[in-house]
Amino acid sequence: MTQQALREAVVRANQEIVSAGLVLLTWGNASAVDRNSGLMAIKPSGVDYNDLTPGQIPLVRISDGAVAEGELKPSSDTETHLVLYRSFPNVGAVVHTHSHYAVCFAQAEEPIPCLGTTHADHFLTDIPVTRRLRPEEIEGAYENDTGVVIAELFSDGGYDAEPTPGALVAQHGPFAWGPDLRHAVENAIVLEEVARMAYHTCQIAPGVERADRTLVERHFFRKHGAGAYYGQQ
Ligand SMILES: [Zn+2]
Repeated sequence: MTQQALREAVVRANQEIVSAGLVLLTWGNASAVDRNSGLMAIKPSGVDYNDLTPGQIPLVRISDGAVAEGELKPSSDTETHLVLYRSFPNVGAVVHTHSHYAVCFAQAEEPIPCLGTTHADHFLTDIPVTRRLRPEEIEGAYENDTGVVIAELFSDGGYDAEPTPGALVAQHGPFAWGPDLRHAVENAIVLEEVARMAYHTCQIAPGVERADRTLVERHFFRKHGAGAYYGQQ
């Protein structure tokens, strides 16, 4: 993908998360990487989504976070995105929002439980929640360490970024990702919708059990991996 195409795709994705109802004000950002050039394209800080143009999208070096191209300051969440790309080599795009129901689970410090096939079609596991950041992390390299607690959750918790393409940062909100922007945006939309469904399911039936593993695996692997058969192959 050319740098121009990468920047255009990042503009579209940032507008899609708004039109999908995931973002109020400027509470969200999408990024994507070109692994060949080692560059990340991300929303510039504080620019209205409707006014975004490809030329405004900063290109940031994944290795050290330096701005390689672009006049505008990259999103304040840039360091978090970079840690995710460094930690998850197969991830090509990241979406961060403050979508309502996902934030409610993050603030409650509860994972989004896998209760049915809507969830299982996209996430093989519960959508996990990180530990809280420590005071010295909040006062120090805050955005970097927001990424670190996600990476730590996956390495220590035995999660894999491919079958679990998203997580909640405690007292903050959701990050979703995928091999490309289309999948990352889709996973961000699914994450919010399954949070909403789980919230209401738990109201109808407090203490409801998680979906059967056999059902969850059947649904996930219909769409993912070597044995996938969903859709037009
Ligand atoms: Zn945020």
